[in-house]
Amino acid sequence: MPDEGDPYWRLRPRAVTPDHEICACDSAMSIVLQPHFSPNPLSCARCNLEVPPERIGMNASVAESVARWCAFHEAFNVLWLDSGEFEDWAANQLSDPASAVNRRGLSLARQLSEWRRCYLWWFQKTSQEGGETAVCPCCALLLEPRFTGERPEGGGLLVCEACSLAIAV
Ligand SMILES: [Zn+2]
Ligand SMILES: [Zn+2]
Repeated sequence: MPDEGDPYWRLRPRAVTPDHEICACDSAMSIVLQPHFSPNPLSCARCNLEVPPERIGMNASVAESVARWCAFHEAFNVLWLDSGEFEDWAANQLSDPASAVNRRGLSLARQLSEWRRCYLWWFQKTSQEGGETAVCPCCALLLEPRFTGERPEGGGLLVCEACSLAIAV
């Protein structure tokens, strides 16, 4: 978070996520594995706010895998946002079901689902229209709507239960 008047805020340690950015939904709510430049990529599927890892309660080995994958994913995201030589390459990696970052992410979402139903947030180069029929980028089955109109700005999710992935619409 930028600190007003501090030109060096990007060089400071990251601040703790403030309370108003922490999910307050009930404890059975599904989660989305969704990196967003915070050490914790676990977000609530309904309110889209961060879910503290202790609420999920996964074991230390899965927690370690989440942290490793989050850093791995960030590498691609940084290259995409850099909008330079690697932009197209990174976007292709992030949207390819066969890429290492997505294969590992889908596997991790399935592991996390042992504790709380978890979907991998799916990267899209262009945003999906909510009304149109959409199919899963991995298995081509029809995506199912979840939390329609309940997400921030009246959005929802389209999920593939078989693949454990979610597309924000
Ligand atoms: Zn929530
Ligand atoms: Zn699928």
